[in-house]
Amino acid sequence: MKYVVSLWLALVMFSSVVSADQFDIEYDVTVDPDSGLAHVVMTLRGKELPSQLKLRLSDERYKNLSSEQPVEIKGNRAVWTPAGPTSSLSYDFVIDEKKSQGRYDSRITSDWAILRSDKLIPPIAATLPKGLSSNASLIFTLPKGWSSAAPYETQDRHHYVITDPGRRFVRPKGWLILGEISSRQDEFVGTDVRVAAPRGQNVRLQDSLAFLGWTLPAIKAVFPQFPPQLLIVSAGNPMWRGGLSGSKSLFMHADRPLISGNRTSSLIHEMVHVGTGIRGTRYSDWIVEGIAEYYAVEILRRTGAISERRFQGAIKDLEEWGKESGSLLTGDSSGATTARAAVLMHELNQEILEATEGEASLDDVARALAEQRGTVTVEGFVNLSEELAGGKLKTLSIVSDTH
Ligand SMILES: [Zn+2]
Repeated sequence: MKYVVSLWLALVMFSSVVSADQFDIEYDVTVDPDSGLAHVVMTLRGKELPSQLKLRLSDERYKNLSSEQPVEIKGNRAVWTPAGPTSSLSYDFVIDEKKSQGRYDSRITSDWAILRSDKLIPPIAATLPKGLSSNASLIFTLPKGWSSAAPYETQDRHHYVITDPGRRFVRPKGWLILGEISSRQDEFVGTDVRVAAPRGQNVRLQDSLAFLGWTLPAIKAVFPQFPPQLLIVSAGNPMWRGGLSGSKSLFMHADRPLISGNRTSSLIHEMVHVGTGIRGTRYSDWIVEGIAEYYAVEILRRTGAISERRFQGAIKDLEEWGKESGSLLTGDSSGATTARAAVLMHELNQEILEATEGEASLDDVARALAEQRGTVTVEGFVNLSEELAGGKLKTLSIVSDTH
């Protein structure tokens, strides 16, 4: 056994010397409004290619998967074995998809399409020799007169260069809007912001852009690693009636106000999700949602959109609503649980400020989580907060004993 391990190590070390190389991935996407399908061809080119790719096809949206190289479908997983110098895999992707309540979170009409690229290209686990990495591009073939907007660098019309630092097999992530669209673009504090919507829907793009110019500096002060590119896609019914964040992008229903009646902002809430890039577990989703909702009010206070008095009123209202939540430790935090979590974040901020005589605050906790990215646990959150505060925190005693 020992011999096998050391031989394997030697092979890994050897391959890292000989294959410090790159290969190209091209994602060619042809969109067809008549069938409602996107035809996807993934082509790999290079002297050396990944030895195996596992695609997670988690729902019924992937059809007609085929390749000239061996491909095997096992349940909802496809195992593909490419071979150099060129290999391709193709499939059809069903664009229309309804979230709960019969509302679409992915939709194609004869004039436009809104979808997530990380669904269009499913999650892929690649086996690559050490040292091998990829250059990826996403190229659309669209009906005549259609435009495209995606949160990536453009090389040419409908040709995007995809980067994902730290990933060796790069795939696109985030929202896309294709078709006859209206869009407005500006740059604020080093972030190139684009807001886009289907043409003719009278979505208030200028209002959204101005709101971003006003709030993004305060958001980036908390989350300096906020992406340099942000795409906001908006549309009216029958799309999902809320906000949904993605990588470097988000979707927001056109009817959502920039500031709600309870003095929070769905747009800031989703922007905080983009800025933190953290996910919750079965027990810690309240941390992710609580941080987003707390800053949705706090950023309005910091930018002078609401006074201290109205901020305190908003926290009081969230506190009342939060009483309807039975427990913070639910798998999917929403409504009353998120309100309760936002109030906890406010109290935690006060306690950290007092404990450190103003030296540290919740900003430091949130910023550290955003730097770590990935999954946040209750234990990790409590430890991080107490480390920054320099001791036990009363606000967290109700959760730290549980998990
Ligand atoms: Zn949220």
